[in-house]
Amino acid sequence: MTDVKPFLLGKMTWQEAKALLKKTDIAIIPVGSTEQHGPALPLDTDAFQAEKFAHAVAEKLWPKVKTIVTPLMPYGVSPHHMPFSGTITLRHETLIDLIVDIGTSLAKHGVKKIVVMNSHGGNTASLSIALRKLHEAGIWCVQVAWWEITADLIKENFNPPYFHADDMETSIAWALGQRVLVDKRVDEPGREPIPGFIRATMFAKPPNFFPAFDMTDFTDSGTIGYSTRADPERGNRVVSAAIERIAAFIEKVASLKLK
Ligand SMILES: [Zn+2]
Repeated sequence: MTDVKPFLLGKMTWQEAKALLKKTDIAIIPVGSTEQHGPALPLDTDAFQAEKFAHAVAEKLWPKVKTIVTPLMPYGVSPHHMPFSGTITLRHETLIDLIVDIGTSLAKHGVKKIVVMNSHGGNTASLSIALRKLHEAGIWCVQVAWWEITADLIKENFNPPYFHADDMETSIAWALGQRVLVDKRVDEPGREPIPGFIRATMFAKPPNFFPAFDMTDFTDSGTIGYSTRADPERGNRVVSAAIERIAAFIEKVASLKLK
């Protein structure tokens, strides 16, 4: 008998799903991407992270708070990574439609609250639109990004720039058990297309402007940051805090009374 996690929708029979949906009205949808992550991390890094975080949070909450976790959405909106081999992108419209369809299906079976566990910044805008549409259909929903809710710890623990396949992301993926090609890690802090005004990093000191871009505007390897400095120990500090904080939030969401 295999050890099946009790929150995985994909592993339930329809009868089991029906029974669980009598006891809970919350579902987590993990959303990632399949896009280049430089020479040291695989294409599925964001998808891997989204699924790991979703499962870890649901596990931490179970059985006190019972959430359902849907199968992973492994693709995201990644047109800016397309110059790099293996990247697969959805159009914004496709991701919006997929999330609205998944959310609407869940709602039909009794889900009233949806948490989208997003692991890719390129998805944020489309997810906001999808969630707005679901909200208008009467569903309570929110998107959660681990790098936003741990911004304080990211600044404390990792070397900037914080952008892509960098010290931060490599350390976190490593801590989560991702394949890391340790010898292939690179340091590429990223070009500044307009020096002093356009820098690819989160939490940039003002003034910083950010145009629509392709990753090749900033990087040749696909990395923007110092991945040679990555280590799983520091990654784990942020991973545990992210799981902790997201779980605490979902516990509150579970007790939220809807009108
Ligand atoms: Zn990523």
